[in-house]
Amino acid sequence: MKLQLFGTAIECIGLNRATDRSVARVRVADKSGTKHASDFALVRTIEELERARALDWRSFFCVGEEFSPVLRQQSGRAIAVSHQFDYLADGDVIGIHHASKRFRTLYRKNSRHNSFLVTERCNNYCLMCSQPPKDADDGWILDEIVESLPLVEPSLSYLTFTGGEPLTNWRAFVEVLAQCRDQLPNTAIQVLTNGRAFADSKIVDAWSAIRHPNLMAAIPVYSAVDHIHDYVVQAKGAFDETILGILKLKDRGHRVEIRVVLHAWTAPTIADTCRWLARNFPFVDHVALMGLENTGFALANDALLWIDPMEYLAALADGVDVLSAAGINVSIYNLPRCVLDRSVWRFAVQSISDWKNGYVEECDPCSERERCSGLFTSGRPRLSRGIRAIVP
Ligand code: SF4
Repeated sequence: MKLQLFGTAIECIGLNRATDRSVARVRVADKSGTKHASDFALVRTIEELERARALDWRSFFCVGEEFSPVLRQQSGRAIAVSHQFDYLADGDVIGIHHASKRFRTLYRKNSRHNSFLVTERCNNYCLMCSQPPKDADDGWILDEIVESLPLVEPSLSYLTFTGGEPLTNWRAFVEVLAQCRDQLPNTAIQVLTNGRAFADSKIVDAWSAIRHPNLMAAIPVYSAVDHIHDYVVQAKGAFDETILGILKLKDRGHRVEIRVVLHAWTAPTIADTCRWLARNFPFVDHVALMGLENTGFALANDALLWIDPMEYLAALADGVDVLSAAGINVSIYNLPRCVLDRSVWRFAVQSISDWKNGYVEECDPCSERERCSGLFTSGRPRLSRGIRAIVP
């Protein structure tokens, strides 16, 4: 089952008329809760609604269709959503557009996989992009993030910013990273960027000026061959800018992860790519070799991209061995254990975000299930012929 992270509210009543969007934090309506202006009492029954009212709450987040008639007759603010969003719990944050009632879950307090989409704009157009770029003015997303960050638990361990290309409006984004430094000083921040912006020294200067204690740029490099990388990202000259960007970041001592997504254009040569990375980038902080998520553009380009991981199992093991021997911190993301050579199991990470992670029937008797990344449930999952239970 995939967790539904966006939808249309049943009711959206009494929200600030001066703006067209609001951010709301769901709270358990007990006496002890400090009420922030964005806090809404979470109610699942009419009795809970009455209890919250008695505790002087005037903003309600209701789960269930049955609240509509009651809410329309009361004063104050209210958002009602269907039972599909039962998972929303104390501390979670949503962003809602008043007129359309469209909303998105922005932050889940109990998840290890929180990420903010910064923009849908991008100067790459990758063949397998899971979030196909749109050339629209979506500056409101950054405003929503600015409003959301004070509502995030300061004890949050990791937070990812993704896109599109987060550095499209780099000045505003750098301000958001400075906000993270001040408001979430214990949170490791990862930015999924195509890295091209860092070819411009003034953007590297701005990145340095943040002085964030735990900030990582995660940058994809799809091949050691420039025109293959440019083809995968559908942008001529992108390889040169990305490589220059990585070098400039590392020259200033910043943390960089290199990511290689594995598909028919990258996986057959993965051992060569790893050898090239080991020779030329021994100073990067991490290399992630990643199974493909079959969603977004990957669906449209399925014939071009699909390769069964069993076809590159040996090359991947070779590549991991080379990187590891070079002293580079390497991980395998998004690939289940049964399609990996046993020699690289220790590098395989449970990387798939909890809201789109699942297993199949074959997994039930598997002795490795607890340690296995499982599969994507998003898009149209493709199953490897190698998926079968591992028995001790
Ligand atoms: S059978 Fe399922 S749980 Fe076992 S390794 Fe394969 S994908 Fe993972």
